[in-house]
Amino acid sequence: MTQDLLATAKRRIPSVERLLAHGDGLRLTDEFGRTALTAAIRDDLARIRSGDAPAGDEAAILARCGESLSSALRPSLRPVFNLTGTVLHTNLGRALLPRSAARAVEAVMTQATNLEFDLATGSRGERDDHVEGLICRLTGAEAAIVVNNNAAAVLLVLNALAMRKEVVVSRGELVEIGGSFRVPDVMARAGCRMREVGTTNRTHLRDFAEAFGPATGLAMKVHPSNYAISGFTAQPDPAELHALCQEKGIPLAEDLGSGSLVDLAAYGLPPEPTVSAALSRADVVTFSGDKLLGAVQCGIVAGRKDLLARIRKSPLKRALRVDKMTYAALEAVLRLYLHPERLRDELPTLRLLTRERAEIAGQANSLLQAVSDRLGGRASVSVAETMSQIGSGALPVETLPSVALVLTPDGDGAERPRSAGGRCRRLAEALRNLPVPVIGRIKDDTILLDLRTLEDEAGFLNSLSAL
Ligand SMILES: *Cc1c(COP(=O)(O)O)cnc(C)c1O
Repeated sequence: MTQDLLATAKRRIPSVERLLAHGDGLRLTDEFGRTALTAAIRDDLARIRSGDAPAGDEAAILARCGESLSSALRPSLRPVFNLTGTVLHTNLGRALLPRSAARAVEAVMTQATNLEFDLATGSRGERDDHVEGLICRLTGAEAAIVVNNNAAAVLLVLNALAMRKEVVVSRGELVEIGGSFRVPDVMARAGCRMREVGTTNRTHLRDFAEAFGPATGLAMKVHPSNYAISGFTAQPDPAELHALCQEKGIPLAEDLGSGSLVDLAAYGLPPEPTVSAALSRADVVTFSGDKLLGAVQCGIVAGRKDLLARIRKSPLKRALRVDKMTYAALEAVLRLYLHPERLRDELPTLRLLTRERAEIAGQANSLLQAVSDRLGGRASVSVAETMSQIGSGALPVETLPSVALVLTPDGDGAERPRSAGGRCRRLAEALRNLPVPVIGRIKDDTILLDLRTLEDEAGFLNSLSAL
């Protein structure tokens, strides 16, 4: 009896050949290839035999195969809508590049380039030459080096200038950035001995003066990127510290972290130290390419020619160097800075950071109905004031007034989780599963979609339609 039932069920499972010859099978073969489709069919039939999938007809089996093949083919790394309110979001890839940079990258990645080839002489060239002149012109530096990221830039500077020597740093600047970049650890890995001076809240010029000696290789300043020490505080006057270092013949390095090339205050943003200001009070400055600069992931070392010549010779430079795509993107972005009148429109990071609250409010009101329609029944949508952040360690305590769409998940519907928190997590998950995932911020059992960073409204509504 059971034997018979099994036999009947088995007979109802179509063969691999039958499915491949089916109209839908032929279409899927065209799209994904016979090898991949055959494997997907075998998997599905095995699941039917073990009871993990319903038998169904041939079309249903092939539809499941098509779905599993397209989801396997979907790239792992893909675009998302960053509506978190953090403009330079490290986990979401930091700065967005202008189209000019994307075009420059595409050109060099599909063709041979003069990456290390001097077209004027026909001899070997130096890869940093493609951007060094621009960086010097924009910052006043004498020389510049590009490496993998700012963490690499700091590591390289420490190692090349102060290996087996002491690096003198204020106790108020022993920064940790996002867990894995910690000043004491980087110093240790660079082969330097950290010499902390002063206290958490107050460090004086004399603290540096007393620490300087024959073992000193470098003095270091670190921008407190993600915290602020307030109250009874003191740091030595930068010009005096620089003068003291020059008198003792000790190079002074400053890790700026974000480091802006322009004065943000001129754009109505909270001020952040510029690279050129830092270079007037330090010999070597390090900063990121994909924070306020608005380009690709890289780290830039800018400063005195003699010191950069020593840094360039370090074997670590080779280990930390960047690819032609990085130079292409960085060069294209740096060129935008040569045209300050257009910078705000053309550099996405600056454009997003400087959007006015009123403009974002207008956008929120005009999107409200369309977003409500697409969330129909799952959540009610309203508009609320919010605060955006620059992110990536720039101006940590400063926020920018912005406007968000607030999604409040509906409580009725039988299959909805009971708790407001559960419903909110469920909706956030649905938004992450959209064709172009929408990433917001959960607050008080609602999802905030900060519109400061929304430019592609049509793409956003289109993605939401798939809910
Ligand atoms: C962000 C930051 C770094 C690390 O820069 P990456 O480009 O992320 O490697 C180092 N130092 C400071 C002060 C920073 O703000």
